[in-house]
Amino acid sequence: MEHVRTLECTLCGETYDPEQLVYTCSNHPSVQGILEVQYDYDVVRERFDEPLDGNIRDQWKYRAFLPVEEDAEPVTLQEGGTDLYDAPRLSDELGVEMRVKDDGRNPTGVLKDRATSVSVTKATHAGRDVVTCASTGNAAASLAGYAARGGLDCRIFVPGDAPEGKLAQPLVYGADVLAVRGSYDEAYDLSMEVTEEFGWYNRNAAINPFQVEGKRTVGHELAEQTRGDVPDWLVFSMGDGCTIYGGWKGFREFRDLGFVDEAPKMLGVQAEGARAIHDAYHEHDSTDDVANTLADSIAVGRPRNTLKAVKALNESGGTSVVVSDDEILRGEKTLGSAEGIYAEPAGAAPIAGIRKALSEGIIDEDESVLAVVTGYGLKDAKSAVEASGSATEIAAELDEVKQRYSP
Ligand SMILES: *Cc1c(COP(=O)(O)O)cnc(C)c1O
Ligand SMILES: [Zn+2]
Repeated sequence: MEHVRTLECTLCGETYDPEQLVYTCSNHPSVQGILEVQYDYDVVRERFDEPLDGNIRDQWKYRAFLPVEEDAEPVTLQEGGTDLYDAPRLSDELGVEMRVKDDGRNPTGVLKDRATSVSVTKATHAGRDVVTCASTGNAAASLAGYAARGGLDCRIFVPGDAPEGKLAQPLVYGADVLAVRGSYDEAYDLSMEVTEEFGWYNRNAAINPFQVEGKRTVGHELAEQTRGDVPDWLVFSMGDGCTIYGGWKGFREFRDLGFVDEAPKMLGVQAEGARAIHDAYHEHDSTDDVANTLADSIAVGRPRNTLKAVKALNESGGTSVVVSDDEILRGEKTLGSAEGIYAEPAGAAPIAGIRKALSEGIIDEDESVLAVVTGYGLKDAKSAVEASGSATEIAAELDEVKQRYSP
């Protein structure tokens, strides 16, 4: 990987050989010593000769930016290349010019597929035949899907009380789903122990330094798709914080290389019941590290990528807001009914965050805003019903319909 210079600790600056699979910096006993991949952009630039014409079949258009070996064969389901929509009715609803990028339309229904494709490609190239992660939902389903695609065994650790619905998808993809008697944190710790014991390739987003790198392609695509009309604000929800940083890093790279003139301000959105990044950014004292929100994909009590997320907010001149579960559900309903875009709660949280930021004067109504939907609505039908109410029951008789619709 001539284009990858080094893995650098975000805390102390220690560097590691990118050819070795090192997960975290050994100078710190805690998991905060997250490593970041640093590139040689002269090499990247030499290799990247794609036209920036908005034609994006999938994220491998940006292969020159991805930390995979030159001879690696991508394990792909055509992730990325998602559409960017104008959103005129949503703009009217919110009172600000809106566009939406729907990354719920990825192969397993989630933006994480960008990262999973990169890490399963790396695992396969390294000759690994088992991949693992700890998760309650989307990361597990994504990993299981790509493991199936790449012919790898997949072993997933979930807390014992994980909802049945979120487990169906990885089971269909053929993964071993191991329900740990204990909390998510215990499942996470066990997955780390197991990785050490058996040497399985670990996709845990927070600690695998290559994970976030695949998420940069959403930023590359956004830069390419908005050339000449870069939004003032780019909005993501935040759980562990890797997604917003990936999106920012990708956009920033394209700006720094001169592919696009400017970069947007990043707005990060968290749930009121899982707000540790927001509190860190605003230097509030954070006391509660137990997550409590129905937006399960961002229900993270102790985010492991707070540093990177805060860096995205700082470098871009952005900020963060928190929203309630009711506001998130309202956002899900607004997005679906105004534009036909169906998001799971974490995917709709940006809409709630934009409302909040407008009301707090963070976003000005003259500015333009782009929301990234990170996950597909069908993953969580239960909260969709909470957002919209149930169907109206009627008898199988014309009169019933007449009563409702005749003038
Ligand atoms: C994982 C996830 C997020 C949050 O990503 P982080 O990297 O944990 O901040 C947001 N939305 C959806 C749908 C997700 O699956
Ligand atoms: Zn370190």
